[in-house]
Amino acid sequence: MKREPSFATVLNCMDGRVQTPVLEFVRKETGIDWVDNLAIPGPAMAFSDHADPHLRQLVERGLGISVKSHGSRQIYIVIHHDCAGCPYDRKTQHGLAMVAVRTVSSRFPEASVRALWVNEHWEVEPL
Ligand SMILES: [Zn+2]
Repeated sequence: MKREPSFATVLNCMDGRVQTPVLEFVRKETGIDWVDNLAIPGPAMAFSDHADPHLRQLVERGLGISVKSHGSRQIYIVIHHDCAGCPYDRKTQHGLAMVAVRTVSSRFPEASVRALWVNEHWEVEPL
């Protein structure tokens, strides 16, 4: 009998306005009860060329635990409206998120990686 992984992963922004919408979206989308929530300011920036290497290490450690120890196979990277940690327009944030998706995908090839945009109404839009 095949057992589905029981965890999904969110690389979330620490912003309190996005937590509940994102976690509810991912639970609904995946049907998985447990969502590992790794929350830092402006997480898409953790993989830019100018990122703090210590922050990137912390993020990779958290993702590694979720994927390797918890068996997560779905990772979501969050960008959002009015982000103080990544204070750029939607287009720029989208570009950063795509770099993050590519980097995380190559680091964790066993997982599928997607970006999510949370709009000005705090609604989640898959990218
Ligand atoms: Zn933010």
